[in-house]
Amino acid sequence: MPIEGHQHLRQIGLLGQIARGQNSKMQLLALRQAAMKGFRSSSWFAFINITLARYDLPDIAAILQWQPGKEQWKSLAKKAVAKYWHSWLLSELTSRVSLLHLCVPVQPKTHGIWVAAAHSPKAVRRAVIKGWMLCGIYSTAERCANLYKEGEANCQLCGAETESLEHILLVCPVLEEVRGNPLCQIRQILAGLELESLLDDPTWRLQLILDCSGMGIPAQEAISIEQASQLLCAAVHNRRELMLDMS
Ligand SMILES: [Zn+2]
Repeated sequence: MPIEGHQHLRQIGLLGQIARGQNSKMQLLALRQAAMKGFRSSSWFAFINITLARYDLPDIAAILQWQPGKEQWKSLAKKAVAKYWHSWLLSELTSRVSLLHLCVPVQPKTHGIWVAAAHSPKAVRRAVIKGWMLCGIYSTAERCANLYKEGEANCQLCGAETESLEHILLVCPVLEEVRGNPLCQIRQILAGLELESLLDDPTWRLQLILDCSGMGIPAQEAISIEQASQLLCAAVHNRRELMLDMS
């Protein structure tokens, strides 16, 4: 959820506090403003009424009358705000070609990339590198050539073909050594599910590495694949950076 959503949650929470504070100055002020059938455009209450409408929540007058309990109001507001921003995110995704491989669940929940990431700085760093690749913002030679119209799109390590994400993660012979262990782990997990062929299927293999959460793989195995793919992405990134620095 963006910062704007968190700010709105705090403001909506404050309104609940005002509604519960019987005969407080703030509540009396809110009652007076609500009774005026319309708020001055500069007032905080006018602003918060627009925010409430945005999240399909009851307006100030209804809340003052209802006086919801703290936990009840908090839970209702959290669900409404999360639902709004999840829908917004889904609509944004359809217009971003770079997010082609990102699977977003129908209901708001933490993405597997962060569920799989451990808490050590190294593991978080691996998840961040994987996130760059998953969101289509990792600077391969192909992306730089397309985006900035400069430089060669061919792989600077092997020179054999265009340096795409698929090339560095699954094809480039120069990076084969660092891909070995993580790919072997993924292959073993898939073998247990009799889905080994996915890793050799040109249609699915990149999706499998970048985000397998929408591929019908059982949850526990999907997290194990996510962890191995984070190791793969980070190993490829580190080796590639090292070799490019040396060249
Ligand atoms: Zn290459």
